[in-house]
Amino acid sequence: MTDMNTHEEEGKKNLNFIEAFVESDLAEGKNNGRIQTRFPPEPNGYLHIGHAKAICLDFGIAEKYNGKCNLRFDDTNPVKEDVEYVDSIQEDIKWLGFQWENIYYASDYFQQLYNFAVQLIKEGKAYVDEQSAEEIAKQKGTPTQPGIESPYRNRPIEENLDLFNRMNQGEFEEGSMTLRAKIDMSSPNMHFRDPIMYRIIKYPHHRTGITWKVYPMYDFAHGQSDYFEGVTHSLCTLEFEVHRPLYDYFIDLLKNNDNYRPRQIEFNRLNLTYTVMSKRKLLQLVKENLVNGWDDPRMPTICGYRRRGYTPESIKNFINKIGYTKYDGIIDVALLEHAVREDLNVRAPRVAAVLDPIKLIITNYPKDKVEILEAINNPEDESMGSHEVAFTRELYIEKDDFMENAPKKYFRMTLGQEVRLKNAYIVKCTGCKKDENGNVIEVYAEYDPETRSGLPASNRKVKGTLHWVSTEHSLPAEVRLYDRLFSSENPGEEKDKELQELLNPNSLKVLTNCRVEMELQKAQPYDHFQFQRLGYFNLDPDSKDGKLIFNRTVPLKDTWSKLKDKS
Ligand code: ATP
Ligand code: MG
Repeated sequence: MTDMNTHEEEGKKNLNFIEAFVESDLAEGKNNGRIQTRFPPEPNGYLHIGHAKAICLDFGIAEKYNGKCNLRFDDTNPVKEDVEYVDSIQEDIKWLGFQWENIYYASDYFQQLYNFAVQLIKEGKAYVDEQSAEEIAKQKGTPTQPGIESPYRNRPIEENLDLFNRMNQGEFEEGSMTLRAKIDMSSPNMHFRDPIMYRIIKYPHHRTGITWKVYPMYDFAHGQSDYFEGVTHSLCTLEFEVHRPLYDYFIDLLKNNDNYRPRQIEFNRLNLTYTVMSKRKLLQLVKENLVNGWDDPRMPTICGYRRRGYTPESIKNFINKIGYTKYDGIIDVALLEHAVREDLNVRAPRVAAVLDPIKLIITNYPKDKVEILEAINNPEDESMGSHEVAFTRELYIEKDDFMENAPKKYFRMTLGQEVRLKNAYIVKCTGCKKDENGNVIEVYAEYDPETRSGLPASNRKVKGTLHWVSTEHSLPAEVRLYDRLFSSENPGEEKDKELQELLNPNSLKVLTNCRVEMELQKAQPYDHFQFQRLGYFNLDPDSKDGKLIFNRTVPLKDTWSKLKDKS
């Protein structure tokens, strides 16, 4: 086999099942080789990482097959929708690195859909029902038992036309009437049992205002919108698989006699452990102030992850790793965190920050001396260069990096033991000072001038390396430590508990007494850093007027799994 062939074979093997469908459609010459997808969010909330999975697929397929992907707002329920969401959705898609061809709105098709509904009424395929939604639901039957036909099912066409028109003029109360498709009350597919096409809503729409008083249901809007736009592959999540026959049914009634018809293909939703992924529940978290808004760094929203310090690449790499299947499941959130670490490892410069400081005095170091040392920005990437750090007699180290009576395997600061101060010297602990309550308030050590990093004696073996900052040449900072928002592994499935009861009470810890090295004075909001030994952090946009606030994006090691293994 030639190289070329090997590549082709490999390429084929790596196709996901959707790409395989697309390629077979292309091979059959469907739609003259045209590929068009859409991402169709309802603007009733912010996008979450589940949407990112759909976005990567919709835009990814278009990109891969030289097609187009449009953004379509599925804005058919004015009560829940808002321009705030329309704007945030666009911002988040762009941040992920995708660009739509056009922006469409389902509301742009309200007139066409209305006309189509009138056509179906005229053809005897739709009728106005005066029963409540509950009554209609009761008559649906079960998958094995046929439903009951509505007493309004066979009213004359003229009456239906008149009532539907008056429904839209606002003559009737919400909930008093619906327009239903007249299909088959004994169909084995429940969605065919005279589905509701239109309901009355008298709430102003964010784009069409009070023009319309009737609004189409999802099943009567989605497929037709796909058809109007010329979508070739309509990709959606598995729960719509049972809707597909109805999707095809309406399009068949609508379409001209040409060969074009959009094809719906379903894939598995993304579910993550310790995470809720429904917009309704995310909205509840925001409304009940259980989090600080949609972009709270503990939220699984795109804007939450952005604020937390996740990168678009880490999210896309994660989506790539999990792939697309026909089976619903739940993905360990640790895999997402792994993808974030992997990406930040490459791009984040290493700096020193002390989150819980205690003073370390190098007693044999001159009082007013300031030494400028070199700190490598990223040992994985020489091109990222280095920056300067100041070393002085008085430093801060982490409180828990000192222990007066330490057990054997404690390789940090304890009496008589040598440790290396990162990028600086080897020091030996000589004592400490305590307050009247016995709390250690200062630690003392002596340094060995021969052991400065880079000098031959710096190779001396010591077991521990500690991070530190100079007391004078460092800045105060606030650091926000985040943990899983939920302590329940699958909060979405805990139907008998309130969302609030499932929350992890320790999901946010704010440390206000931290010190960071001077280099961080230059940090801009969203900049990424690795705080040596602690994890990846970014500057929060709340930082202003010289006040530095950092978010922990992810710790270096997955402490959560370890904790779980122990318990
Ligand atoms: P939710 O159930 O969270 O409210 P939704 O499906 O109502 O979400 P839409 O705005 O209608 O949200 O979704 C837009 C697109 O994103 C749809 O094609 C939908 O299938 C897809 N999508 C939504 N949630 C997920 C998910 N968890 N995984 C993959 N795709 C998703
Ligand atoms: Mg939806």
